[in-house]
Amino acid sequence: MPLFPASFVEDLKSHLDIVQIVGERVQLRKAGAASWKGLCPFHGERTPSFHVHGDRQFFHCFGCGESGDVFKFVQKLDTLTFPDAVRQLAGRAGMTVPEPEDARADAESAREREALLKVHEVAAAWFKAQLATAAGRGALRGSARTWPRRGFPTPFCSGAVSSPSTSSSSRATGSATG
Ligand SMILES: [Zn+2]
Repeated sequence: MPLFPASFVEDLKSHLDIVQIVGERVQLRKAGAASWKGLCPFHGERTPSFHVHGDRQFFHCFGCGESGDVFKFVQKLDTLTFPDAVRQLAGRAGMTVPEPEDARADAESAREREALLKVHEVAAAWFKAQLATAAGRGALRGSARTWPRRGFPTPFCSGAVSSPSTSSSSRATGSATG
């Protein structure tokens, strides 16, 4: 699972300008309409072969072959992990980083929800199977008037999370199990 939502990383990236960020660390000279060049910070050189492209927001060095986006640049230059580079750049862009704890909590509640739905499915299938037996069919006929005409009886579908509130619900449950 990625540490940050891809949408957040993309959003953050759109708030950053790689030319400006690289320009603070490397002396850049304009080399084209939207491209700049300077001395590569990743290898020793005397002739600039390090290019930064503002339109495509990436850097590339023809000397050492290093290339990437703004995150890669900060990661490499400051020896940071990707999450730390994201945090640093988010801080400067004034954006709040969704912390991994939040992501974990989200995943947990999604798992719980899934499990609950599964319980309902299993319970519904079990009751449905019971109703298919001779005894079940008898019970179904006996209490047909108290149940909805179509679909599955509501007490069985909602019974797992909330107790039946009406007397007709309790009666239906009673006749099916008894
Ligand atoms: Zn280089």
